[in-house]
Amino acid sequence: VLELENVAKRFGTEDVISSLSLSVRDGEILTLLGPSGCGKTTTLRLIAGLERPSGGRIRVDDSAVAGDGRFVPPEERGVGVVFQEFALFPHLTARENVAFGLQEWSDDQRDARVEELLELVGLESHGEHYPEELSGGQQQRIALARSLAPEPEMLLLDEPFSNLDVDLRVEMREEVRRIIKEADVTAISVTHDQEEALSISDRVAVMHDGNIEQIDTPERVFQDPKSRFVAGFLGHAS
Ligand code: ATP
Repeated sequence: VLELENVAKRFGTEDVISSLSLSVRDGEILTLLGPSGCGKTTTLRLIAGLERPSGGRIRVDDSAVAGDGRFVPPEERGVGVVFQEFALFPHLTARENVAFGLQEWSDDQRDARVEELLELVGLESHGEHYPEELSGGQQQRIALARSLAPEPEMLLLDEPFSNLDVDLRVEMREEVRRIIKEADVTAISVTHDQEEALSISDRVAVMHDGNIEQIDTPERVFQDPKSRFVAGFLGHAS
């Protein structure tokens, strides 16, 4: 569904991403895992269309969205994004937040879609609550529902759990995985937290200095690290 081919990104004189190739499969949850500054967020922003690559190509469903002189803007890429701070609109209810991206839908379709999503995230009885009347976990569910509402082809999550306290983080990992699978969307998430990568992903790509060191199922990456860097980052003796 998504293909990055020799993608590069330079900020000034710094090569943040050097030559990154990655193929994301339909319906999978892929996590980019790596230490701070390795280029995870930049990769996500390139996929979203929030940055232009300095080299290489990005394709969605076999058509170029970036590179070779083409650049498809974010709103035409069919991606939903969930960033660290959930950034719900404080003056809108949960229901209105979820409906936010559906302004062009008919009233009936919009209402039905919003109800479907509130149910998916288990908050059908909280539609009239304002964000400040919701717990951190509930706010995050609403943020997820809002991103999924317009039926994006891909969901991009940047450190989605970092604002939650530790207990809630563990609970929400399972929940977010369930929601993504039920919504039947392809998801790419970014984290520096190995346990998170292990619990939510179908595949994990370990990043180091703007490149992918290893990409495989979480079990294989953790049990059989292919480089000293991966072993070291995951805390194995090497
Ligand atoms: P973190 O986990 O800390 O968010 P990350 O792996 O997501 O790290 P990025 O945010 O992609 O890393 O940043 C990678 C490098 O690119 C960093 O050295 C950062 O300073 C640099 N960088 C990112 N965005 C810009 C920008 N707009 N201008 C200049 N440098 C940038």
